[in-house]
Amino acid sequence: MKEKPDRLGWLKGGECNVVTEHRPRPCRFVLLGAPGVGKGTQAQLLAELFDSYHLSTGDILRAAKISPIDCRRSPVMAEAVSFMDAGQLVPDEVVLGLIAEREKYSHSGAGFLLDGFPRTVAQAVMLENLLGKLHVQLDAVLSYELPLEKIVARLSGRRTCPICKTVFHDQTRPPKQPGLCDDCGAELFHSEDDRAVRERMQAYETRTAPLADFYRSRDLFITISAEGTSEEIFERTLEALNGRAEAVAM
Ligand code: AMP
Repeated sequence: MKEKPDRLGWLKGGECNVVTEHRPRPCRFVLLGAPGVGKGTQAQLLAELFDSYHLSTGDILRAAKISPIDCRRSPVMAEAVSFMDAGQLVPDEVVLGLIAEREKYSHSGAGFLLDGFPRTVAQAVMLENLLGKLHVQLDAVLSYELPLEKIVARLSGRRTCPICKTVFHDQTRPPKQPGLCDDCGAELFHSEDDRAVRERMQAYETRTAPLADFYRSRDLFITISAEGTSEEIFERTLEALNGRAEAVAM
């Protein structure tokens, strides 16, 4: 039976088994995209299709934060949590530490999708050095793109249930009764207004835009429109990957 990538092991710090069996062609991608473009959904769909690891630094940090103190947290995870508890950004070296302590996933036979890392050119250089040491090469960097106005419309229309955390949307998924959660009836809260979304996007652009040039210069960068449904975006992703595979084979 084919070995399955164990995502829980990756989130916890890699104590669990890693896929070792030879796959014809492990695919190794970095996914980029602003909050709200649907990158996480595409990562899940791709991981399922390729049977590869979906490696999200945001998910590791969230898992580290909610894990009980007496549960096993690696020293790097504990360090990351201490920055988050102090309301500070987790420094690049600490995030790299999280990836480095899971390095066996990077050269597993299953391939991987990095989601949320790298976020800055400094992190991209660190990743390049780490993968270089492991003799692993990236196949492509997929950048999901959507005009700012559409991101603002997507994010600022979101309403979240404080109890069950279900996310509704004014236009695309309105609750049955305005302002109330369909499941628990709690009053929904408006997570972010337009201004907050614009500010967050500005910060994202400033930090992440230079990554496009970095990966363009390594001939890895592919842009994909994040307009439409997740199925449409996924279809575009596969077309882009096929196009690249043909170009590389030529
Ligand atoms: P995400 O789920 O990717 O949006 O990440 C959630 C949060 O985790 C971010 O807002 C950051 O505070 C933190 N985070 C995730 N990945 C990184 C990273 N590569 N570098 C620094 N902080 C990160």
